[in-house]
Amino acid sequence: MRRQMVREVLAQGRADSETELFGWVRTARHSKSLSFLELVDGSCMAGLQVVVEPSLPGYEGIRSLRTGCALRVSGRLVDSPGKSQSVELHAKDVELIGDVDDDYPLQKKRHSFEFLRTLGHLRFRTNTLGAVIRVRNSAAQAIHRFFQDRGFLWLHSPIITALDAEGAGEMFRVSTLDAGSPPRNDSGEVDFSQDFFGGETLLTVSGQLEAEIGALSMGNVYTFGPTFRAENSNTSRHLAEFWMVEPEMAFCDLDGDAELAEDFLKCVIRSILEDCPEDMAFFQQRIDEGLMERLDRVVSAPFERLTYTEAVEILEGSGRDFEFPVKWGVDLQSEHERYLTEEHVGRPVVVTDYPIDIKAFYMFRNDDERTVRAMDVLVPGVGEIVGGSQREHRLEVLRERLRHHGLSEERYGWYLDLRRYGSVPHAGFGLGFERLVQFVTGMANIRDVIPFPRVPGNAEF
Ligand code: ATP
Ligand code: MN
Repeated sequence: MRRQMVREVLAQGRADSETELFGWVRTARHSKSLSFLELVDGSCMAGLQVVVEPSLPGYEGIRSLRTGCALRVSGRLVDSPGKSQSVELHAKDVELIGDVDDDYPLQKKRHSFEFLRTLGHLRFRTNTLGAVIRVRNSAAQAIHRFFQDRGFLWLHSPIITALDAEGAGEMFRVSTLDAGSPPRNDSGEVDFSQDFFGGETLLTVSGQLEAEIGALSMGNVYTFGPTFRAENSNTSRHLAEFWMVEPEMAFCDLDGDAELAEDFLKCVIRSILEDCPEDMAFFQQRIDEGLMERLDRVVSAPFERLTYTEAVEILEGSGRDFEFPVKWGVDLQSEHERYLTEEHVGRPVVVTDYPIDIKAFYMFRNDDERTVRAMDVLVPGVGEIVGGSQREHRLEVLRERLRHHGLSEERYGWYLDLRRYGSVPHAGFGLGFERLVQFVTGMANIRDVIPFPRVPGNAEF
Protein backbone atom coordinates (compact mmCIF):
# COMPACT_ATOMS: atom_id res chain seq x y z
CA MET A 1 0.00 0.00 0.00
CA ARG A 2 1.20 3.49 -0.83
CA ARG A 3 2.10 5.49 2.24
CA GLN A 4 -0.50 8.19 2.94
CA MET A 5 0.64 11.69 3.77
CA VAL A 6 -0.91 14.09 6.27
CA ARG A 7 -1.91 16.44 3.45
CA GLU A 8 -4.04 13.78 1.78
CA VAL A 9 -5.60 12.66 5.02
CA LEU A 10 -6.59 16.18 6.04
CA ALA A 11 -7.93 16.98 2.57
CA GLN A 12 -9.79 13.74 1.83
CA GLY A 13 -9.70 11.57 4.93
CA ARG A 14 -13.11 10.07 5.64
CA ALA A 15 -14.22 9.54 9.18
CA ASP A 16 -14.31 5.83 10.13
CA SER A 17 -11.65 4.80 7.64
CA GLU A 18 -8.45 3.13 8.79
CA THR A 19 -5.07 4.59 7.92
CA GLU A 20 -1.37 4.44 8.69
CA LEU A 21 0.96 7.42 8.73
CA PHE A 22 4.64 8.12 9.29
CA GLY A 23 6.06 11.39 10.55
CA TRP A 24 7.54 13.39 13.39
CA VAL A 25 5.98 14.71 16.56
CA ARG A 26 5.66 18.49 16.43
CA THR A 27 4.06 18.75 19.88
CA ALA A 28 3.03 16.24 22.48
CA ARG A 29 0.60 16.81 25.35
CA HIS A 30 0.09 14.14 27.93
CA SER A 31 -2.68 14.38 30.48
CA LYS A 32 -3.85 11.79 32.97
CA SER A 33 -6.56 10.47 30.73
CA LEU A 34 -5.23 11.00 27.18
CA SER A 35 -2.20 11.82 25.04
CA PHE A 36 -2.35 14.21 22.08
CA LEU A 37 0.41 14.02 19.49
CA GLU A 38 0.60 16.43 16.57
CA LEU A 39 2.13 14.44 13.71
CA VAL A 40 3.79 16.27 10.79
CA ASP A 41 5.47 14.84 7.70
CA GLY A 42 6.39 17.82 5.51
CA SER A 43 3.46 17.43 3.14
CA CYS A 44 1.61 20.43 4.54
CA MET A 45 1.78 23.05 7.26
CA ALA A 46 -0.86 21.47 9.49
CA GLY A 47 -0.23 18.37 11.52
CA LEU A 48 -2.62 15.53 12.12
CA GLN A 49 -3.89 15.26 15.66
CA VAL A 50 -3.31 11.77 17.02
CA VAL A 51 -5.24 10.82 20.15
CA VAL A 52 -3.93 7.98 22.28
CA GLU A 53 -5.96 6.43 25.08
CA PRO A 54 -4.33 4.92 28.15
CA SER A 55 -5.95 1.57 27.40
CA LEU A 56 -3.60 1.14 24.42
CA PRO A 57 -0.98 -1.57 25.07
CA GLY A 58 2.38 0.01 25.82
CA TYR A 59 0.82 3.35 26.79
CA GLU A 60 3.58 4.03 29.33
CA GLY A 61 6.08 4.34 26.47
CA ILE A 62 3.80 6.78 24.68
CA ARG A 63 3.81 9.13 27.62
CA SER A 64 7.51 9.75 27.01
CA LEU A 65 7.11 10.73 23.32
CA ARG A 66 8.06 14.33 22.66
CA THR A 67 8.86 16.91 20.00
CA GLY A 68 11.10 15.47 17.29
CA CYS A 69 10.35 11.74 17.73
CA ALA A 70 9.77 9.81 14.49
CA LEU A 71 6.69 7.56 14.56
CA ARG A 72 4.52 5.13 12.70
CA VAL A 73 0.91 5.52 13.73
CA SER A 74 -2.11 3.57 12.62
CA GLY A 75 -5.71 3.82 13.67
CA ARG A 76 -9.13 5.11 12.78
CA LEU A 77 -9.99 8.57 11.47
CA VAL A 78 -12.83 10.30 13.29
CA ASP A 79 -14.43 13.71 12.81
CA SER A 80 -12.48 16.18 14.87
CA PRO A 81 -14.30 18.18 17.53
CA GLY A 82 -11.69 20.94 17.09
CA LYS A 83 -12.56 23.39 14.31
CA SER A 84 -9.02 23.79 12.98
CA GLN A 85 -9.02 20.35 11.36
CA SER A 86 -11.46 18.02 9.69
CA VAL A 87 -10.37 14.70 11.13
CA GLU A 88 -8.16 13.28 13.86
CA LEU A 89 -6.66 9.87 14.28
CA HIS A 90 -7.56 7.59 17.16
CA ALA A 91 -4.48 5.45 17.52
CA LYS A 92 -4.59 1.67 17.58
CA ASP A 93 -0.86 1.24 17.25
CA VAL A 94 2.02 3.64 17.79
CA GLU A 95 5.58 2.62 16.98
CA LEU A 96 8.58 4.72 17.88
CA ILE A 97 10.87 4.60 14.84
CA GLY A 98 13.46 7.14 15.92
CA ASP A 99 13.80 8.63 19.38
CA VAL A 100 15.07 12.15 19.93
CA ASP A 101 17.98 13.17 22.15
CA ASP A 102 17.46 15.61 25.00
CA ASP A 103 19.35 18.37 23.28
CA TYR A 104 17.04 18.58 20.21
CA PRO A 105 17.43 22.25 19.34
CA LEU A 106 14.00 22.87 17.81
CA GLN A 107 11.79 23.14 20.83
CA LYS A 108 8.43 24.85 20.50
CA LYS A 109 9.65 28.43 20.61
CA ARG A 110 10.55 30.97 17.98
CA HIS A 111 14.09 30.94 16.70
CA SER A 112 15.68 33.69 14.63
CA PHE A 113 16.32 32.91 10.97
CA GLU A 114 20.02 33.61 11.56
CA PHE A 115 20.13 30.92 14.22
CA LEU A 116 18.22 28.49 12.03
CA ARG A 117 20.78 28.94 9.24
CA THR A 118 23.33 27.31 11.56
CA LEU A 119 20.94 24.32 11.70
CA GLY A 120 20.79 23.74 7.97
CA HIS A 121 20.16 20.04 8.59
CA LEU A 122 17.08 20.63 10.75
CA ARG A 123 15.58 23.95 9.78
CA PHE A 124 13.10 22.52 7.23
CA ARG A 125 11.23 21.13 10.24
CA THR A 126 10.19 24.63 11.24
CA ASN A 127 6.90 26.03 9.96
CA THR A 128 8.53 28.82 7.99
CA LEU A 129 11.22 26.87 6.19
CA GLY A 130 8.81 24.02 5.53
CA ALA A 131 6.42 26.48 3.90
CA VAL A 132 9.27 27.99 1.86
CA ILE A 133 10.29 24.58 0.54
CA ARG A 134 6.72 23.79 -0.50
CA VAL A 135 6.18 27.20 -2.14
CA ARG A 136 9.49 26.86 -3.98
CA ASN A 137 8.43 23.50 -5.31
CA SER A 138 5.08 24.90 -6.38
CA ALA A 139 6.77 27.88 -8.08
CA ALA A 140 9.11 25.62 -10.04
CA GLN A 141 6.18 23.52 -11.25
CA ALA A 142 4.23 26.64 -12.21
CA ILE A 143 7.18 27.95 -14.20
CA HIS A 144 7.55 24.77 -16.20
CA ARG A 145 3.78 24.62 -16.77
CA PHE A 146 3.69 28.23 -17.94
CA PHE A 147 6.31 27.65 -20.61
CA GLN A 148 5.18 24.17 -21.58
CA ASP A 149 1.61 25.41 -22.09
CA ARG A 150 2.99 27.98 -24.53
CA GLY A 151 5.17 25.56 -26.47
CA PHE A 152 8.55 26.67 -25.09
CA LEU A 153 11.19 23.95 -24.99
CA TRP A 154 13.26 23.52 -21.83
CA LEU A 155 16.88 23.89 -22.91
CA HIS A 156 19.50 22.49 -20.54
CA SER A 157 22.26 25.06 -20.66
CA PRO A 158 25.65 23.98 -19.31
CA ILE A 159 26.92 24.79 -15.85
CA ILE A 160 30.58 24.66 -16.85
CA THR A 161 31.32 27.20 -19.55
CA ALA A 162 34.09 29.05 -21.32
CA LEU A 163 31.84 32.07 -21.95
CA ASP A 164 31.78 34.99 -19.60
CA ALA A 165 28.35 36.34 -20.69
CA GLU A 166 30.00 39.72 -20.91
CA GLY A 167 30.66 40.46 -17.30
CA ALA A 168 27.20 39.64 -15.95
CA GLY A 169 29.08 38.98 -12.73
CA GLU A 170 32.31 37.75 -11.21
CA MET A 171 32.92 34.09 -12.01
CA PHE A 172 34.16 30.97 -10.22
CA ARG A 173 36.93 29.07 -11.98
CA VAL A 174 36.60 25.34 -12.60
CA SER A 175 39.98 23.67 -12.69
CA THR A 176 41.73 20.41 -11.96
CA LEU A 177 45.19 21.98 -12.06
CA ASP A 178 47.29 21.66 -8.93
CA ALA A 179 46.35 24.82 -7.02
CA GLY A 180 49.70 24.77 -5.17
CA SER A 181 51.91 24.72 -8.25
CA PRO A 182 49.97 25.07 -11.49
CA PRO A 183 51.85 24.70 -14.79
CA ARG A 184 53.02 28.03 -16.19
CA ASN A 185 53.78 29.24 -19.69
CA ASP A 186 56.89 31.15 -20.79
CA SER A 187 55.53 34.45 -19.53
CA GLY A 188 54.84 32.94 -16.11
CA GLU A 189 51.07 32.88 -16.41
CA VAL A 190 49.05 29.82 -15.42
CA ASP A 191 48.87 27.54 -18.46
CA PHE A 192 45.21 26.64 -18.73
CA SER A 193 45.85 24.75 -21.96
CA GLN A 194 46.96 21.93 -19.66
CA ASP A 195 43.75 22.13 -17.67
CA PHE A 196 40.97 19.53 -17.92
CA PHE A 197 39.12 21.14 -20.82
CA GLY A 198 42.23 22.44 -22.58
CA GLY A 199 41.39 26.02 -21.70
CA GLU A 200 40.10 28.16 -18.88
CA THR A 201 36.60 27.19 -17.71
CA LEU A 202 34.17 28.82 -15.32
CA LEU A 203 30.82 28.27 -13.66
CA THR A 204 28.07 29.91 -15.68
CA VAL A 205 26.64 33.29 -14.68
CA SER A 206 23.79 33.09 -17.20
CA GLY A 207 22.45 30.70 -19.81
CA GLN A 208 21.41 33.52 -22.12
CA LEU A 209 23.91 33.02 -24.90
CA GLU A 210 23.10 29.32 -25.06
CA ALA A 211 19.39 30.19 -24.97
CA GLU A 212 19.96 32.45 -28.00
CA ILE A 213 21.51 29.50 -29.82
CA GLY A 214 18.44 27.48 -28.86
CA ALA A 215 15.90 30.11 -29.92
CA LEU A 216 17.56 30.62 -33.29
CA SER A 217 16.93 26.98 -34.13
CA MET A 218 13.99 25.92 -32.01
CA GLY A 219 11.90 29.11 -31.83
CA ASN A 220 11.01 29.55 -28.17
CA VAL A 221 13.11 28.03 -25.40
CA TYR A 222 13.82 28.57 -21.73
CA THR A 223 16.55 27.55 -19.35
CA PHE A 224 15.96 26.82 -15.68
CA GLY A 225 19.04 25.91 -13.71
CA PRO A 226 21.71 26.99 -11.27
CA THR A 227 23.91 30.01 -11.94
CA PHE A 228 26.89 31.26 -9.99
CA ARG A 229 28.30 34.65 -9.16
CA ALA A 230 31.46 35.20 -7.17
CA GLU A 231 30.42 38.73 -6.28
CA ASN A 232 31.19 39.69 -2.75
CA SER A 233 27.74 41.13 -2.07
CA ASN A 234 26.59 40.45 1.43
CA THR A 235 23.04 41.62 0.85
CA SER A 236 19.60 40.21 1.49
CA ARG A 237 19.07 39.79 -2.30
CA HIS A 238 22.30 38.14 -3.48
CA LEU A 239 23.51 34.55 -3.40
CA ALA A 240 26.69 33.07 -4.86
CA GLU A 241 24.63 30.16 -6.24
CA PHE A 242 21.09 30.81 -7.37
CA TRP A 243 18.59 29.49 -9.89
CA MET A 244 17.74 31.44 -12.97
CA VAL A 245 14.90 31.17 -15.46
CA GLU A 246 15.77 32.51 -18.92
CA PRO A 247 13.23 32.40 -21.74
CA GLU A 248 14.41 33.38 -25.21
CA MET A 249 12.08 33.96 -28.17
CA ALA A 250 12.84 34.17 -31.87
CA PHE A 251 10.83 36.63 -34.00
CA CYS A 252 10.17 38.75 -30.93
CA ASP A 253 10.91 42.34 -29.92
CA LEU A 254 11.07 44.08 -26.55
CA ASP A 255 7.31 44.67 -26.39
CA GLY A 256 6.70 40.96 -26.79
CA ASP A 257 9.36 40.28 -24.19
CA ALA A 258 7.76 42.66 -21.65
CA GLU A 259 4.36 41.12 -22.33
CA LEU A 260 5.74 37.65 -21.68
CA ALA A 261 7.38 38.79 -18.42
CA GLU A 262 4.10 40.27 -17.20
CA ASP A 263 2.02 37.20 -18.14
CA PHE A 264 4.66 34.99 -16.61
CA LEU A 265 4.76 36.71 -13.23
CA LYS A 266 0.97 36.92 -13.01
CA CYS A 267 0.46 33.31 -14.00
CA VAL A 268 3.09 31.90 -11.68
CA ILE A 269 1.87 33.93 -8.70
CA ARG A 270 -1.78 32.95 -9.30
CA SER A 271 -0.77 29.34 -9.52
CA ILE A 272 1.14 29.46 -6.21
CA LEU A 273 -1.79 31.18 -4.48
CA GLU A 274 -4.08 28.39 -5.67
CA ASP A 275 -1.68 25.58 -4.95
CA CYS A 276 -0.44 26.65 -1.49
CA PRO A 277 -3.26 28.56 0.25
CA GLU A 278 -2.28 27.36 3.72
CA ASP A 279 1.39 28.24 3.37
CA MET A 280 0.54 31.60 1.85
CA ALA A 281 -1.85 32.38 4.71
CA PHE A 282 1.01 31.60 7.08
CA PHE A 283 3.36 34.05 5.32
CA GLN A 284 0.66 36.69 5.44
CA GLN A 285 0.08 36.15 9.18
CA ARG A 286 3.60 35.61 10.42
CA ILE A 287 6.02 37.15 7.95
CA ASP A 288 4.50 40.08 6.07
CA GLU A 289 1.02 41.46 6.71
CA GLY A 290 0.99 43.42 3.45
CA LEU A 291 1.72 40.31 1.38
CA MET A 292 -1.68 39.30 0.00
CA GLU A 293 -2.68 42.83 -0.86
CA ARG A 294 0.56 43.30 -2.77
CA LEU A 295 0.23 40.03 -4.65
CA ASP A 296 -3.40 40.79 -5.47
CA ARG A 297 -2.36 44.05 -7.04
CA VAL A 298 0.28 42.26 -9.10
CA VAL A 299 -2.12 39.73 -10.57
CA SER A 300 -5.08 42.06 -11.07
CA ALA A 301 -3.69 45.27 -12.57
CA PRO A 302 -1.54 45.91 -15.64
CA PHE A 303 2.13 46.60 -14.98
CA GLU A 304 3.17 50.22 -15.45
CA ARG A 305 5.56 50.96 -18.37
CA LEU A 306 8.18 53.68 -18.12
CA THR A 307 11.22 54.44 -20.20
CA TYR A 308 14.47 54.89 -18.32
CA THR A 309 14.39 58.55 -19.33
CA GLU A 310 10.92 59.00 -17.81
CA ALA A 311 12.01 57.12 -14.69
CA VAL A 312 14.97 59.47 -14.23
CA GLU A 313 12.68 62.50 -14.60
CA ILE A 314 10.36 61.08 -11.94
CA LEU A 315 13.25 60.38 -9.59
CA GLU A 316 14.73 63.85 -10.12
CA GLY A 317 11.36 65.44 -9.46
CA SER A 318 10.67 63.31 -6.37
CA GLY A 319 12.34 65.69 -3.94
CA ARG A 320 13.98 62.65 -2.36
CA ASP A 321 17.44 62.75 -0.95
CA PHE A 322 18.78 59.49 -2.41
CA GLU A 323 22.07 58.06 -1.19
CA PHE A 324 23.12 57.71 -4.84
CA PRO A 325 22.15 60.87 -6.76
CA VAL A 326 20.28 60.29 -10.01
CA LYS A 327 21.03 61.75 -13.36
CA TRP A 328 20.55 60.51 -16.92
CA GLY A 329 23.25 57.95 -17.67
CA VAL A 330 23.69 56.35 -14.24
CA ASP A 331 22.42 52.86 -13.45
CA LEU A 332 19.38 52.75 -11.18
CA GLN A 333 20.16 51.63 -7.65
CA SER A 334 17.92 49.55 -5.45
CA GLU A 335 16.64 52.67 -3.61
CA HIS A 336 15.60 54.23 -6.95
CA GLU A 337 13.94 51.04 -8.16
CA ARG A 338 12.02 50.72 -4.93
CA TYR A 339 10.89 54.34 -4.98
CA LEU A 340 9.48 53.85 -8.47
CA THR A 341 7.63 50.63 -7.80
CA GLU A 342 6.63 51.12 -4.16
CA GLU A 343 5.89 54.81 -3.92
CA HIS A 344 5.47 56.33 -7.34
CA VAL A 345 3.37 53.59 -8.92
CA GLY A 346 2.46 51.15 -6.14
CA ARG A 347 2.61 48.16 -8.51
CA PRO A 348 5.18 46.44 -10.69
CA VAL A 349 6.90 48.65 -13.26
CA VAL A 350 8.68 47.73 -16.48
CA VAL A 351 11.49 50.19 -17.14
CA THR A 352 12.76 50.12 -20.73
CA ASP A 353 15.34 51.72 -23.00
CA TYR A 354 18.37 52.15 -20.80
CA PRO A 355 21.47 54.16 -21.74
CA ILE A 356 23.70 52.19 -24.07
CA ASP A 357 26.81 52.78 -21.97
CA ILE A 358 25.56 50.95 -18.89
CA LYS A 359 24.30 47.87 -20.72
CA ALA A 360 25.78 44.79 -22.37
CA PHE A 361 27.04 44.76 -25.97
CA TYR A 362 24.37 42.32 -27.18
CA MET A 363 21.37 44.57 -26.53
CA PHE A 364 19.53 46.02 -29.54
CA ARG A 365 20.58 49.61 -30.23
CA ASN A 366 17.77 52.13 -30.66
CA ASP A 367 17.79 54.65 -33.53
CA ASP A 368 18.82 57.42 -31.10
CA GLU A 369 22.10 55.47 -30.63
CA ARG A 370 22.06 56.53 -26.95
CA THR A 371 19.77 53.81 -25.62
CA VAL A 372 19.22 50.07 -25.98
CA ARG A 373 16.09 47.94 -25.92
CA ALA A 374 16.63 46.65 -22.40
CA MET A 375 14.04 46.21 -19.69
CA ASP A 376 13.95 45.58 -15.96
CA VAL A 377 10.80 44.55 -14.15
CA LEU A 378 10.69 46.15 -10.71
CA VAL A 379 8.42 44.90 -7.94
CA PRO A 380 7.61 46.30 -4.49
CA GLY A 381 9.77 44.95 -1.69
CA VAL A 382 12.41 43.42 -3.95
CA GLY A 383 13.25 45.92 -6.69
CA GLU A 384 14.63 44.26 -9.82
CA ILE A 385 13.17 40.79 -10.26
CA VAL A 386 13.59 40.42 -14.03
CA GLY A 387 16.21 41.82 -16.40
CA GLY A 388 15.93 41.35 -20.14
CA SER A 389 16.39 42.79 -23.60
CA GLN A 390 15.83 42.52 -27.28
CA ARG A 391 19.12 41.24 -28.70
CA GLU A 392 21.12 42.95 -31.43
CA HIS A 393 20.48 40.81 -34.50
CA ARG A 394 22.06 43.13 -37.11
CA LEU A 395 25.53 41.88 -38.00
CA GLU A 396 27.13 45.26 -38.68
CA VAL A 397 25.79 46.91 -35.53
CA LEU A 398 26.88 43.92 -33.42
CA ARG A 399 30.39 44.10 -34.88
CA GLU A 400 30.55 47.76 -34.02
CA ARG A 401 29.38 47.05 -30.48
CA LEU A 402 31.98 44.31 -29.98
CA ARG A 403 34.70 46.70 -31.15
CA HIS A 404 33.42 49.40 -28.84
CA HIS A 405 33.60 46.99 -25.87
CA GLY A 406 37.07 45.80 -26.85
CA LEU A 407 35.80 42.25 -27.46
CA SER A 408 37.34 40.16 -30.22
CA GLU A 409 35.30 39.06 -33.24
CA GLU A 410 37.19 35.81 -33.18
CA ARG A 411 36.06 34.94 -29.70
CA TYR A 412 32.44 35.71 -30.57
CA GLY A 413 32.66 34.15 -34.03
CA TRP A 414 29.81 31.74 -33.40
CA TYR A 415 27.69 34.58 -32.01
CA LEU A 416 28.28 36.57 -35.18
CA ASP A 417 27.50 33.47 -37.25
CA LEU A 418 24.02 33.45 -35.79
CA ARG A 419 23.66 36.94 -37.32
CA ARG A 420 24.88 35.71 -40.71
CA TYR A 421 22.85 32.54 -41.10
CA GLY A 422 19.18 33.47 -40.94
CA SER A 423 19.31 36.16 -38.27
CA VAL A 424 15.99 37.24 -36.75
CA PRO A 425 14.91 39.71 -34.09
CA HIS A 426 14.86 37.89 -30.77
CA ALA A 427 14.46 38.76 -27.13
CA GLY A 428 14.48 37.21 -23.70
CA PHE A 429 14.84 37.83 -19.99
CA GLY A 430 16.35 36.41 -16.84
CA LEU A 431 14.41 35.91 -13.65
CA GLY A 432 16.18 35.17 -10.40
CA PHE A 433 14.15 32.25 -9.03
CA GLU A 434 14.98 33.08 -5.40
CA ARG A 435 13.99 36.72 -5.92
CA LEU A 436 10.62 35.42 -7.09
CA VAL A 437 10.26 33.16 -4.05
CA GLN A 438 11.24 36.09 -1.84
CA PHE A 439 8.64 38.27 -3.46
CA VAL A 440 5.90 35.66 -3.16
CA THR A 441 6.61 34.76 0.47
CA GLY A 442 7.62 38.16 1.82
CA MET A 443 10.76 36.61 3.33
CA ALA A 444 13.26 39.35 4.10
CA ASN A 445 16.47 37.46 3.41
CA ILE A 446 17.21 35.51 0.24
CA ARG A 447 19.23 33.01 2.33
CA ASP A 448 15.98 31.76 3.80
CA VAL A 449 14.27 30.96 0.49
CA ILE A 450 16.86 28.51 -0.86
CA PRO A 451 17.43 25.13 0.81
CA PHE A 452 21.21 25.48 1.09
CA PRO A 453 22.45 29.05 0.64
CA ARG A 454 25.94 29.71 -0.70
CA VAL A 455 27.24 33.13 0.27
CA PRO A 456 30.66 34.68 0.76
CA GLY A 457 32.41 32.83 3.57
CA ASN A 458 29.87 30.03 3.86
CA ALA A 459 29.08 26.88 1.88
CA GLU A 460 28.05 24.68 4.82
CA PHE A 461 25.60 21.79 4.45
P1 ATP B 1 21.44 43.07 -9.32
O1 ATP B 1 21.54 44.41 -9.95
O2 ATP B 1 20.28 42.93 -8.39
O3 ATP B 1 22.73 42.58 -8.74
P2 ATP B 1 21.93 42.01 -11.89
O4 ATP B 1 21.64 43.21 -12.69
O5 ATP B 1 23.33 41.61 -11.61
O6 ATP B 1 21.12 42.06 -10.51
P3 ATP B 1 21.16 40.21 -14.02
O7 ATP B 1 22.54 39.97 -14.46
O8 ATP B 1 20.25 41.03 -14.85
O9 ATP B 1 21.15 40.76 -12.52
O10 ATP B 1 20.49 38.77 -13.69
C1 ATP B 1 19.12 38.46 -13.96
C2 ATP B 1 18.33 38.22 -12.69
O11 ATP B 1 18.99 37.31 -11.82
C3 ATP B 1 18.14 39.45 -11.84
O12 ATP B 1 17.04 40.20 -12.30
C4 ATP B 1 17.90 38.89 -10.46
O13 ATP B 1 16.54 38.50 -10.33
C5 ATP B 1 18.74 37.63 -10.44
N1 ATP B 1 20.04 37.78 -9.76
C6 ATP B 1 21.14 38.41 -10.20
N2 ATP B 1 22.16 38.29 -9.34
C7 ATP B 1 21.70 37.52 -8.33
C8 ATP B 1 22.31 37.00 -7.13
N3 ATP B 1 23.59 37.23 -6.83
N4 ATP B 1 21.55 36.24 -6.31
C9 ATP B 1 20.26 35.97 -6.62
N5 ATP B 1 19.63 36.43 -7.73
C10 ATP B 1 20.33 37.19 -8.58
MN1 MN C 1 20.09 43.44 -14.35
